[in-house]
Amino acid sequence: MKRIAIIGGGPAGLTAAIEGAKLGLEVELFDQYKIGDHIRCAEGFFDTLDLLGEPKDGLRFKVDALDFKVKTTYSFPTGEDIKLWMIDRQEWQIGLAKEARELGVQIHENSPISKDKFKELSANYDYIIDSSGAPSVTSKAHGWQSFYKETSGLTAQYTMLGDFTKYKDKIFAAILDRHKGYYWVFPKGDREANVGLIIFDDTTDNLWNVLEEIIEREKLTSYERTRKLGGICPVIMPENLVHGNSLLTGDAAGLVSALHGGGIDNACISGKIAAECIANNEVDQYDSKVRKVLANKLNGEKHFANVAYGMNQTILEGIFKMLHRSDKSIGEYGFLTGQAENFLKLKAIRSVIPVLLKK
Ligand SMILES: Cc1cc2nc3c(=O)[nH]c(=O)nc-3n(C[C@H](O)[C@H](O)[C@H](O)COP(=O)(O)OP(=O)(O)OC[C@H]3O[C@@H](n4cnc5c(N)ncnc54)[C@H](O)[C@@H]3O)c2cc1C
Repeated sequence: MKRIAIIGGGPAGLTAAIEGAKLGLEVELFDQYKIGDHIRCAEGFFDTLDLLGEPKDGLRFKVDALDFKVKTTYSFPTGEDIKLWMIDRQEWQIGLAKEARELGVQIHENSPISKDKFKELSANYDYIIDSSGAPSVTSKAHGWQSFYKETSGLTAQYTMLGDFTKYKDKIFAAILDRHKGYYWVFPKGDREANVGLIIFDDTTDNLWNVLEEIIEREKLTSYERTRKLGGICPVIMPENLVHGNSLLTGDAAGLVSALHGGGIDNACISGKIAAECIANNEVDQYDSKVRKVLANKLNGEKHFANVAYGMNQTILEGIFKMLHRSDKSIGEYGFLTGQAENFLKLKAIRSVIPVLLKK
């Protein structure tokens, strides 16, 4: 029986553990903390490719509408095509860990993997699935950890308590005016929300000051802040996803969307593929299999993000207005569900830009 060591008990590592155990691998998982602690996330579970299904644990609500703001706010129904839920990620991950244990996975909490320990694991296990996020343990062991810093979005977020009833069953996103990126209010219920931002340019601005301005603009200044967190979102895949006998998954593999910063779904998908490749003696195909499923979507999102975040705000406002006028749901346009490249090729979108410029 093949023995695998998984580093990291986030979405990628836990999915790999469950899949690996189901496929008959002997799985041990190591996390530096307790499963579910120190999560950095706005907790939107967006199954962009419709490959994962509704999360089992920690579900708060299915998102029925997206509110987008450039200057004005436009509310779009999500429609059938967008599978998006707000979750409590800690509860969700604890549920996944329980499922993994029941399948025979040994989970070692409070067990950080150092560079030396990584070498030990490499020698003692058939394979390592590195799901340690960014910068990955593999990159530290091989000396290329700076890669992530150069290829990541930057985030800042507060969890806030107050009256969020106006966002019932919705999430809210608004384009930043002085940076490439957006800010969000992702409610977890009537009284709690994650309020944060992601920036994709090389800013020297202090992100927390930018977030303060947003909090004031959105009239949330009096709301209580219960958690402050930030972190990087790696949006470029390293050249190789396999280093020695270590397979990179999730954020360690640079699988975050450059459009919206979502990475939970891509992490789960890559974790599943990693376990399958090991079980089927196809590790040499892991890299190409991940790219086959995810590269088109991620590259399309990157292209779309470059266009949208670099666009004059009046033009962007015009595009949202035009989309909003139709009776389509936001899902039908496809740019949030893996079809961003096709959306940019739509005649209506290509033609609207010069028309708006003339106005
Ligand atoms: C502010 C913010 C908001 C976000 N919001 C969303 C969102 O709403 N929706 C979405 O889809 N994505 C979101 N993301 C991205 C998402 O959180 C990540 O893409 C996702 O967590 C990646 O999962 P992962 O399993 O690859 O890595 P992680 O979730 O980072 O898990 C890595 C695990 O490895 C462990 N670990 C790290 N180093 C070691 C070590 N040396 N030894 C042992 N264990 C180690 C960590 O403790 C952790 O448990 C957000 C990111 C940020 C920063």
